[in-house]
Amino acid sequence: MIRTCIGCRERAEKSTLVRVVATGDSPVTVVLDRDGRLPGRGAHLHPDPGCLELAQRRKAFGRALRVAGTLDLTSVVEQLAPGAGHAPPARPT
Ligand SMILES: [Zn+2]
Repeated sequence: MIRTCIGCRERAEKSTLVRVVATGDSPVTVVLDRDGRLPGRGAHLHPDPGCLELAQRRKAFGRALRVAGTLDLTSVVEQLAPGAGHAPPARPT
């Protein structure tokens, strides 16, 4: 299955992307769905801090998850941030 990363907008095999799901409300919390089993509207992105940043900058989460208000991305950011074990640490600029 091919899905589009909401960060870089590249199409990729679903297995190489992580699914995120919006849960709760006020604020809506976005969580990683590592097993692909959480109910609700999901979106896909690369497990990459760069794609996460792009998605945040483009407000792609709200669009993809059909959420108009504020999204709490803390959980996703913590798990995809450099040093969280998914990607090599970002080089100092
Ligand atoms: Zn991407």
